[in-house]
Amino acid sequence: MTQYPHLLAPLDLGFTTLKNRVLMGSMHTGLEETGDWNRVAAFYATRARGGVALMVTGGMAPNPEGGVFPGAAGLYTDKDIANHRIVTTRVHDAGGKIAMQILHAGRYAYGPKCVAPSAIKSPISPFAPQELDEDGIEKQISDIVTAATRAREAGYDGVEVMGSEGYFINQFLVTHTNKRTDRWGGSYENRMRLPVEIMRRVRAAVGLDFIVIYRLSMIDLIPNGSTWEEVVQLAKAIEEAGATILNTGIGWHEARIPTIATSVPRRAFAWVTQKLMGEVSIPIITSNRINTPDVAEQVLAEGCANMVSMARPFLADPDFVAKAAAGKAAEITPCIACNQACLDHTFSGKLSSCLVNPRACHETELTIAPATTCKTIAVIGAGPAGLSAALTAAERGHHVTLFDKSDRIGGQLNLAKQVPGKEEFWGLVDYYDTMVAKAGVTLALGRVATPDDLAGFDEIIIATGVLPRDPAIPGQDGPNVVSYIDVLRGAATVGDKVAIIGAGGIGFDVAEFLVTDHSPTDHLPDWLQEWGVGDPAEVRGGLRAEGPQPDAPVRQVTLLQRKAEKLGKRLGKTTGWIHRAGLQMKNVQMIGGVNYEKIDAAGLHISHGADRSDPKLIAADTIVLCAGQLPERGLADQLIAAGQNVHVIGGADVAAELDAKRAIDQGTRLAATL
Ligand code: NAP
Ligand code: SF4
Repeated sequence: MTQYPHLLAPLDLGFTTLKNRVLMGSMHTGLEETGDWNRVAAFYATRARGGVALMVTGGMAPNPEGGVFPGAAGLYTDKDIANHRIVTTRVHDAGGKIAMQILHAGRYAYGPKCVAPSAIKSPISPFAPQELDEDGIEKQISDIVTAATRAREAGYDGVEVMGSEGYFINQFLVTHTNKRTDRWGGSYENRMRLPVEIMRRVRAAVGLDFIVIYRLSMIDLIPNGSTWEEVVQLAKAIEEAGATILNTGIGWHEARIPTIATSVPRRAFAWVTQKLMGEVSIPIITSNRINTPDVAEQVLAEGCANMVSMARPFLADPDFVAKAAAGKAAEITPCIACNQACLDHTFSGKLSSCLVNPRACHETELTIAPATTCKTIAVIGAGPAGLSAALTAAERGHHVTLFDKSDRIGGQLNLAKQVPGKEEFWGLVDYYDTMVAKAGVTLALGRVATPDDLAGFDEIIIATGVLPRDPAIPGQDGPNVVSYIDVLRGAATVGDKVAIIGAGGIGFDVAEFLVTDHSPTDHLPDWLQEWGVGDPAEVRGGLRAEGPQPDAPVRQVTLLQRKAEKLGKRLGKTTGWIHRAGLQMKNVQMIGGVNYEKIDAAGLHISHGADRSDPKLIAADTIVLCAGQLPERGLADQLIAAGQNVHVIGGADVAAELDAKRAIDQGTRLAATL
């Protein structure tokens, strides 16, 4: 008997059956734009082998004006069909099913030729769209229908029509972006004419035995978004027009409410999808922040949806479904919803990967093959770099001993998990615990490894991490000055007024930790209140009239940096705004362009600019040092001086801008070659 009866139950669609209730949601990985379709095929075939019932590709533009950016992948010509066929053939050979998403970006298209219902620029693009006339609208519909027929010709099992997240179709639905007075604007019947017409004509063109998913925005999270009555009306009309399945979209891209970041509670929007259950008779898929089989099972068991969509969890672990089915859920590499190697890459024009799985989108290039010679390998440091090196080496058949001076593995991940909104790190450390035991890695914890301990190993990998940088501020040795490590470990007493020196990722995390006494991420009603999310049946678009209502901050915090730029500018591209907005809601003062003059019992004395003008006291009971990191190279230097050959990885190698993404990537790649 499986632990996941709902998740693993087949879904009969009449003309075809899905083998379970898991859909891999659409993700733009950038793979198609490499032009290497074998690589694209390897990505999807790997996930098909892992047991997911149906995958949806990244958004494919139906025409150049609808591309998310100039040159975005699409399905415009016969040559494109041949490329896509490489993917569908490999997926089918692997026992999977795949649907192609048709994505018309409308005014979100990052190019001067973008088109939309009305000429209203979006806040997230510099390009004002051109308003379409009747012929222009007809062309867009016809191009979308042609893309669907080409998808069928290319061997796809279906298409997903992207109708949510504020893209083209969604832009017709709401008065926020549709000011038309013709038959495509005005009344809701007119505004929903476009999606219904598209669905009707797509179905007529592709026949009855082809999956057509419609991704419907169930809560827009923007001003003047759809009402719930409108959502239901559209869902019914889309069903009648021939959709096979309805998928859930949450929030427009321009919404100022996080919808998938790690601080969003798990399954935070399943209740929205649940409201639609019973309104239509076709299957409904729910989505957003579902990342474990237990959560997915619970969502289905509670009747929130007929299927679940997970996207990033399949970057983290292509074998998610197979492991769940085999009773090995603890071995699923968990997606921590950090966006660091997936969406942040996409939005920087880089190929996607995954922080916890560097092989994602690099399946053909980073291979973990059995070692030809079995070696003894010592890894010193059980943080992300050391853990990934140890596990990869062990997977290849090496005998690995993992040393750490702490009595537990995880390194700085154990600090990250203390931060409100970063609870996913608990699961990541648990996963590493499971895998270290399963891989048979010998643990030598709670001891400082010496050169004598390391004599006789074939390979030595130094992953000793980082040391906090000493900012050398006069008075920093006073009793009111503490390091971020002690704060996050709970080993420091922190007063009511705090100054934080350094506004990198850790300064922001420490500020969050100090202003929050319970994490809304652990309690959905609190999180919805914090960000001002309401029931779309009560408030249009799901935006509460009173706006965000966070709990009062539990301390008065000032966050400082020497650079004169906006604080948090270098945080993650897709998550930095959330960290900044979160701290602003808690009245954290953010001050840049400062010099640290001295610390005394009254607090932190600063001045401004090169001429050290405008001296000021930041009155504080406690000053927390978050001034960056330096490599901890003591052991490495000792061994190198003794003529030992060592590999140095992670923060011990380069501390500047170190994060878990680089550490895990470096550890995995090194161990793949030993
Ligand atoms: P960091 O990002 O390098 O920031 C260090 C901070 O210290 C900066 O604000 C810097 O600003 C300041 N600083 C540097 N030298 C200083 C000095 N001599 N005196 C006083 N201040 C000084 O390092 P971090 O915050 O320790 O984070 C370490 C790594 O972990 C980062 O790469 C970060 O990306 C990663 N991390 C990421 C997240 C995330 O949310 N993605 C969270 C936590 C950590 P000024 O030089 O302008 O003063
Ligand atoms: Fe998940 Fe982070 Fe990997 Fe993206 S990079 S898939 S958010 S763990």
